[in-house]
Amino acid sequence: MLSLIHLISIIIIVADLMLGIGILWNNYNKKANRLVFGIAVSSALWIFTNLMVDISKTDLMALRWSQLTILGPIFMPFFFLYLSYVFPYKEKIKKIKLFLIFSPVLIFLPFLFTRYNIERVRIIPGEIPEVVPGFLYSLFFIYFIIYSFYTIYRFFKKSKKCSHIEKLQISYIAGATIISFLIGSFTNAFLLLMGISRASSFGPLVTIIWISGLTVAILKHHLFNIKIIVAEVLVAVIGIILFIQIFITDKTSIRFFNTIIFLLFCIFGYLLIRSVLREIKLKEELEAANKELKRLDEAKTEFLSIASHQLRTPLTAIKGYIGMIEEGIYGEIPEKVKEILNKVNDSNERLIRLVNSLLDISRLELGRMEFEFEKVDIEEMLENIVDEFHIAARKKGLKLVFEHPKEKLPEITIDALKMRQVFLNLVDNAIKYTYEGEIIVKAELKDHGNERIRVSVSDTGMGIARNEIDQIFKIYRRGTGVRLFPEGSGVGLYVAKKIVEAHNGKIWVKSQGKGRGSTFYVELPLKAKKPNHL
Ligand code: ADP
Repeated sequence: MLSLIHLISIIIIVADLMLGIGILWNNYNKKANRLVFGIAVSSALWIFTNLMVDISKTDLMALRWSQLTILGPIFMPFFFLYLSYVFPYKEKIKKIKLFLIFSPVLIFLPFLFTRYNIERVRIIPGEIPEVVPGFLYSLFFIYFIIYSFYTIYRFFKKSKKCSHIEKLQISYIAGATIISFLIGSFTNAFLLLMGISRASSFGPLVTIIWISGLTVAILKHHLFNIKIIVAEVLVAVIGIILFIQIFITDKTSIRFFNTIIFLLFCIFGYLLIRSVLREIKLKEELEAANKELKRLDEAKTEFLSIASHQLRTPLTAIKGYIGMIEEGIYGEIPEKVKEILNKVNDSNERLIRLVNSLLDISRLELGRMEFEFEKVDIEEMLENIVDEFHIAARKKGLKLVFEHPKEKLPEITIDALKMRQVFLNLVDNAIKYTYEGEIIVKAELKDHGNERIRVSVSDTGMGIARNEIDQIFKIYRRGTGVRLFPEGSGVGLYVAKKIVEAHNGKIWVKSQGKGRGSTFYVELPLKAKKPNHL
């Protein structure tokens, strides 16, 4: 029968090996990965030989296994020290130096099966075997401790020249080494001195903490990989327990049942790990694509900004020349040409508005939109806007009215130019998207604990479908019914929303549906918390 400690030993051997294989799998070509694989195999060997000593039937057999116990550990300090030369970044190391570092292994190896290593072992039934070590064994401990401390010291020294993430990796290595060293010396030195010898079997098991730490450290730059390691280790541990269960029972039927469960688990475990791997790959690909998209987006915004600036100058010049021609500075012009000129002017104005919106977007996206807050009489502002649009409304046969509030509204602190742009856009849209009927602009004081001014622009126009209500405030989004209005660009409401939100306000729309008109609302606090830019 296997005892608990044997069972744990087997589990940890497998877990050690899995971690080792996992890290080798991750990148076979990297020296650091190969070294951690070496450490994992060495410690698995250490636990295995210890286990064999424990279950040996004769003194001689126990002696041979016991002499083999240091085979794994003599490589560990060498691998660990070598790791500090290649991780997190590679340092040059001369062949001769490497050979010197390796030399203790060569010194110990020939004495493996001699009494200088382990002198004698005596099996005591029910207890762990009594081991009498030779002088080389103590020498081995000195080698082990010196190498480990020197390696940690090297890592710390190296970390001064490391990036943030590399420092984190080193702290994982140091942390895991120190923790396993402390636990190991507690079970194998302190408790042993106190006379509790049984605990010493736990010593080698601590290596799992060490190897996990090293693995995590090396894979740290890809946090996702830790997830796969955890999944692998878990699957392995459960798998081993299920595997052992097959042999624990004597009954054939239960054994058969356990075998089926074990096989099923293996299949599911494999599928689970494969799916986690796939998810990781997908996430990594997504991340890379996302980064590229962000870069492209920034480039686009930058381009937009430059292009709009370049466009604005000639457009403003055209506007100036049209004005001068209309005023008759270049001589009298016939009525017919005046009419055409008016149309040219309208188109030019539309272009200017579009370029301004594009500039706003690039400013918003680059975080360069600046605000200048001042006290404003909002009633006066709305009245002016309504006046400005009178002609346009009349041309379409629409009634455009501003309903004054019953009581005079208090002054409000806003960026006058930007909020004007918001209201202009709302009224412009209302006229644009209404064929007949009226447009009513209203302003009123609302008091929900803190005073706010609510402006509404309602029309009897084409309305907005329910499923489009949230969409129209997004950039470049236009409703499905606006194909007849090719001059729109779908940026006005997006910019308006950003401006209103920068004032700590809210903008929203209500519509009964297609063809049933719509009402846009803007609610602003009397004193907006001032952002300097957005
Ligand atoms: P644009 O008007 O240039 O398309 P906006 O951002 O100002 O861009 O508006 C986005 C969309 O919202 C419009 O394309 C239209 O579908 C819808 N919309 C805006 N105002 C109204 C309105 N008063 N009535 C109906 N639909 C509207």
